[in-house]
Amino acid sequence: MRRYYDDAYATRFTARVIEQTTAGNHPAVILDQTYFYATSGGQPNDTGLIAGVPVIDVQTRDADAAVVHVLASPLTANGEVECQVDWARRFDHMQHHTGQHILSQAFIEVADASTVGFHLSADSVTIDLDKVNLLPDAINRAEDLANEVVFADRPVTARIISMDDAAGIRMRKLPEKILTDGLRVIDIDGFDITACGGTHVRRTGEIGVIKVLRIEKRGDKSRVEFRCGGRALREFRDRNALVNQLTALLTCKAEEVVPSITRLQEEFKAAQRDLKAAKSELIAAEADRVIASTPPENGLRVVSKAVADRDVNDARLLATRLVQTPGVIALIGVPGDKAQLIFARGDGVSVDMNALLKAALASLNGRGGGQPNMAQGGGVPATTEQIEAVLMATVQSLKE
Ligand SMILES: [Zn+2]
Repeated sequence: MRRYYDDAYATRFTARVIEQTTAGNHPAVILDQTYFYATSGGQPNDTGLIAGVPVIDVQTRDADAAVVHVLASPLTANGEVECQVDWARRFDHMQHHTGQHILSQAFIEVADASTVGFHLSADSVTIDLDKVNLLPDAINRAEDLANEVVFADRPVTARIISMDDAAGIRMRKLPEKILTDGLRVIDIDGFDITACGGTHVRRTGEIGVIKVLRIEKRGDKSRVEFRCGGRALREFRDRNALVNQLTALLTCKAEEVVPSITRLQEEFKAAQRDLKAAKSELIAAEADRVIASTPPENGLRVVSKAVADRDVNDARLLATRLVQTPGVIALIGVPGDKAQLIFARGDGVSVDMNALLKAALASLNGRGGGQPNMAQGGGVPATTEQIEAVLMATVQSLKE
């Protein structure tokens, strides 16, 4: 017998074990009566203790709708057992479940948006609305209306009605599965009437507050993330701590955090532009020095260099700059976990860089390719010594 239908606040009770069973790899018991909530309707199961043994899950058995209490270890006690529901978890579920009813009704009244899904877990609470692109103003008005209902401390009552009577009531939603004799209806003092088998608070004031965190578009639906009561307070505490950290880091007031970060981003972009320009000047000067110190042999200047202190883009920039001088062959290698070879040629050189690169990569087991005037490849680990050896062999092959 599911006692939580009548009383969501009872957490300590005595019950008789009427069946020992299993669920998955775990032992499980069925009691003659229970206040443990079984997962359903978007609300997760309760946890707690039965005769001192942790209850890790509570399910409804398909065959006979019995409440199956899944245990961490087998129960040694028989007959009457002391049971205890984890109240903190249960009350959090009650706050969120009742809050969900109110928020769902508020979205209907404000935006004509119906709730088509509800999800409640330790890290997320959401409802899905059958509308998209709700305006921020509508979201705020729905949130305000929901909180007016909370602050008015309206009574929340549960009653069981016949299916015939249900036809005469303007009800927000009907359940997927009915476990009671008749329809269990939750009435938030005329604001919202809906069929529900979950656990709810007695008065809306116990919800404390309902706060929408964000809305995201999911196909033709909107997912509304929200928090109620204790979780809303913890969320506020965490976010407030975050804002305080940001204001301390940026030495500004909370309202100046966004402009401060925007300014920092712009400064960073400008600094990156300056750095890029300075780097390219340095690389140009380096290329000029290298060319000057490499005398031509048979009309060709072969520059071979392993650059361990560069990223690939800079190495590529160096190669490009070197071959702006006619008659230059640039063979640049970048050692590392994903070593790269960059081969390039200037005007007046007929050697195929792609063929030259393929021959060099063969000894490294690397992959790559390109055009006759420029080719790049590698992607395999290689030390500076290995890169130097490959480059030396390539230089040698050019002389043959
Ligand atoms: Zn409910």
